[in-house]
Amino acid sequence: MTKNEISICVYCGASDGVNEIYIDLAKSLGGYLTKYDCRLVYGGGSTGLMGACALATYEAGGRVYGVITEFLRDQEVLFEQIPHEIVETMRHRKDRLIEESDGFIVLPGGVGTLEEMTEVFSWIRLEILDKPIVLLDPTGFWDPLIEQIDRMVETGFCPPAARKRLVKVSTCEEAIKRLLNNIR
Ligand code: AMP
Repeated sequence: MTKNEISICVYCGASDGVNEIYIDLAKSLGGYLTKYDCRLVYGGGSTGLMGACALATYEAGGRVYGVITEFLRDQEVLFEQIPHEIVETMRHRKDRLIEESDGFIVLPGGVGTLEEMTEVFSWIRLEILDKPIVLLDPTGFWDPLIEQIDRMVETGFCPPAARKRLVKVSTCEEAIKRLLNNIR
């Protein structure tokens, strides 16, 4: 695999009206994905952090690939200009995002982001998926979730080896470098 064949899936919020600090983080990540020649794979919309990251990547001349469902096409405002596919179900969308990607970066988001992240992490824990995942979280947004996962480890519900696969970093560059170093 050459460097420019690497695809990184970004999971993040689709809601508009969130604090600009999160939007800026998503935009910044788009710039760094382009700098590191990584293709952005994401949910295909134009709203929230998802749209901000995709537009920033696109405007910087980077590659973007979107996967969206027909019923979300209007709600999440399909980013028409980029290569994309429209699938029938959310299940298919999640599967296609995982298949198209070599690793995952998680930004702040809502329950959709939480669901996508925990699915990938749980598959890593079950050893049915061997792709790296990083939480890019300079503001501590996901700290309560990390505390909960640490509690699972302390109480024996989550193996420490699995816990080590969920890494938190504070900068876009660290997130991308960590994935690039851990993609097999
Ligand atoms: P949110 O973090 O809630 O803003 O959602 C982020 C993205 O996840 C959006 O594109 C949602 O359409 C998507 N999403 C919402 N619920 C789910 C789910 N159960 N499984 C997968 N993706 C979802």
